[in-house]
This record gives sequence, C-alpha cells and structure tokens, in this order.
Amino acid sequence: MNKPVQSQFAFIIAGGGMAGLSLAYYLSKSSLGDLPILIIDQFPKNKNDKTWCYWSDREEEFDKVAEKSWDSLWFHSQSNQSKLLNISPFQYNKINSGDWYSYVNKQLATKHNIQFLEAKINSFFYKGLGGVVGTDQGDFYASQKVFDSISTFTCDFENPQHIKQHFLGWTIESHFPVFKPESADLFDFRVAFDMECEFMYVLPTSPKKALFEYTFFSGNIRDKTFYRDKLKAYLLAYYGFGEDDYDLLEEEYGVIPMRPMEDDFQNLHVKIIKIGTSGGFVKSTTGYSFLRTQHTLKELVANLEAKNFKALVLKELQFKKWLDKVFLQVFIDQKIAGSKVFESLFFKNSPQKMLRFLEEKTSLREDLSLMLTVPTYPFLSAAIKLFFKGNKLP
Ligand SMILES: Cc1cc2nc3c(=O)[nH]c(=O)nc-3n(C[C@H](O)[C@H](O)[C@H](O)COP(=O)(O)OP(=O)(O)OC[C@H]3O[C@@H](n4cnc5c(N)ncnc54)[C@H](O)[C@@H]3O)c2cc1C
Repeated sequence: MNKPVQSQFAFIIAGGGMAGLSLAYYLSKSSLGDLPILIIDQFPKNKNDKTWCYWSDREEEFDKVAEKSWDSLWFHSQSNQSKLLNISPFQYNKINSGDWYSYVNKQLATKHNIQFLEAKINSFFYKGLGGVVGTDQGDFYASQKVFDSISTFTCDFENPQHIKQHFLGWTIESHFPVFKPESADLFDFRVAFDMECEFMYVLPTSPKKALFEYTFFSGNIRDKTFYRDKLKAYLLAYYGFGEDDYDLLEEEYGVIPMRPMEDDFQNLHVKIIKIGTSGGFVKSTTGYSFLRTQHTLKELVANLEAKNFKALVLKELQFKKWLDKVFLQVFIDQKIAGSKVFESLFFKNSPQKMLRFLEEKTSLREDLSLMLTVPTYPFLSAAIKLFFKGNKLP
C-alpha cells in the first residue's frame, strides 16, 4: 500500500475490517462508486483471522463465499438431551474471513478511485464542512463522510457485569474420518456445570475437519489456556481424541461486546459515522453482527444515494432493545443457568421462530408468546430490576 498522493476524499473509511470493507464494497457498486474513497487500516487484510457465521432464509450477498452451509443444527442440553433442529428454509453459513477479504478486495481492486492506506489512526475531528482522520502518516480530509469502525464500543472488558461473548476456537484435522458434516452443533451445553452461560460450538466441514469453539456469554474473560484445556477435554470426552489424534490447523480468539447502544442514535446528517462493532451493530444477545452489518450498510448506502440524510444508521425497535436488556440482565444475575434459558426457548419453540427472534424479525405477538416459554421468575426479576434502574444495564 502506497501513501495516497492526495489528502482529500469524498469518503474515508477508518478501519478496513469486516464493516469497513463491506461499506466500501456496497459503495463501489452504487451510483457513488466513482467518488474518491480512502480506506485506512493499520494492518493488511490478507490472513484468515476469524470465522463469520450467519443464518438466513433468503439469498444473501456473500453466500457464494461460504465454505459450508447447513440446514440442520444440533442442540444438546446440559442434561444430555439432544435435538436435531431442521432449520429449513434457513441456512446456517460459515465464511472464512480470509476467503471473504480476497473476494471483496478483488472487487475493490477494479475501482481506481478507491485507495488503501496502511496507517495507525490517532484521531477524528471536524474541519469546515467535512471530517478529518488524523494518522501517523498525516491528516486526511473527507468532504462527505468519515466512517469510523475503530473506536471502542462502550463495553468494559474487565467489568464482570458487562456481558461479552468470549471464546477460543480450534480448527482441527483429525487423523480419522469421524465428523458428520451434514449437521453442525449450534449449542452443546453438556459442558456447562455452573450458572454462567457456556457451551461448545462445533462446525464440521468434512469428515476430518471441524471448528470447535468454547464459548461463554458472560462477564468473566478467562486466560487463553482455560479455553484450550476445555477444548482438549471435550475432544477427549466426545471424540476420544488425544493430542496425537489430530493436527491443530488454526486458532481463533474473540471477545465481542454484548451490550446495546445506549441513547446514541446516529443519522446520516452526522459527518463522522460509527459503523460495525464501534457503531453497535452487534446484536447484543447473540454477539453476531455479520449479516446485520451487511443489511445495515446496504441500506445506509441506498440512503446516501437518495440523499435521505434523516435516515437512521442503525434502526432499532425500542421493544426489541428492551428485551435484549432483560436477557442480558438474566445473564448478569445468574439466578438461572444460562443453558436453561436457551433450552426452554429451543425446546418449546420451532427453530425457525427462534432464528427469526434472534434476528429481530418476529412480531410483537410472537415475541410475547416466546416470552411465555422462558422461566418466569428470573425474567420477571430481571425486568423489575431494570425498571427500577431506569432501564439501564449496570
Ligand atoms: C474471532 C471472531 C469470530 C467472530 N465470529 C462471528 C460470527 O461467526 N458471526 C458474526 O456475525 N460475528 C462474528 N464475530 C463478530 C464480528 O462479526 C466481527 O468482530 C467483525 O470482524 C466486526 O467487524 P468490524 O469491522 O466492526 O471490526 P473488525 O473486523 O475488527 O475491523 C476493525 C478494523 O479496524 C482496524 N483498526 C483498529 N484500530 C485501528 C487504528 N487505530 N488505526 C488503524 N486501523 C485500526 C483493525 O485492524 C481492523 O481491521 C466474530 C468476531 C471475532 C473476533
């Protein structure tokens, strides 16, 4: 990446990760696609650094990049009850970030107006009618918008009352064909012994290859060796694998904030717009954001094209946001094991309804009927607690 010869652009995208590159991709395909655009990131995106999964019941922009898709998923309860969920017409898709970066960068390389800069961003500020991004290689000016996907989101990783999705995953190749790639394990709660919401997540892509991810929805992040030991124990207990029975191909680690944005609406009038994790695009009760980011940014670009500057960047229904907070309060309070919450939901509702619920596609009536299937006391207690705290999470 060379330093751009000019310092003025129409759009500057700060952070060329999933959200930044997605935005550049949709801009490149729009009527704004010939305006000068700068993408700034401190690192090149040429490695497979994470896996993105999402579910959908329709064709999505990046389905073709998926390594594998499933239409049935296992749910294993803490008490060893297993249910195979047929999710059709939904598909659960797995994209390797390395494949996705190559695909998107290939599209962006065809556009000479889109430039990349490898630099560390230090600041954002307003100048005249535009926005400026300050970097260790100088200042860059955007006459139309700066998109910020690098600012930290308001979630304190040290605070045990701030719920995070924290996990460590291994992609392994076994020396024997043992995996059944026709179904993935969305939740395996057989590993959960306490009140914290913890589970194993398994994505087999061939009889010999699978991704195992030891995952928590909780406030206490562990040392990496903790998750690694859990992975080893699981491979031994459920597959009889000692360390000589497989090769470790890749490891991924993540801490994703599970908190809704508080009273921080952004509309397109703003010159510096937060996107991606920084913009609160992560669905706070699941930690998923890939598909939500695609839909939000596609719509954002359509609104920019239509000069609809009153449009909200992230449309969030207040009731859905409140429901998310109740769920998070339940995870904070730990009056019930996290596994029991998901067991009640997945055993008493159809998987299709659950997947639509988790994507905020259910109607108010469906939401209310779903809430009748969760354990009453911990949810009521969480709702009352929230009420007395002005509907704010700790
Ligand atoms: C391991 C992992 C697995 C995940 N799996 C899923 C999944 O299965 N499904 C799902 O929906 N979501 C998943 N997520 C959550 C989410 O989709 C990802 O975190 C996604 O990458 C978020 O996109 P983003 O653009 O907000 O952040 P990023 O992709 O992290 O992009 C931010 C970019 O900003 C750059 N940057 C940061 N600071 C600076 C700076 N000061 N100067 C210059 N550049 C900077 C970084 O280098 C990075 O490239 C996962 C997250 C992780 C970490």
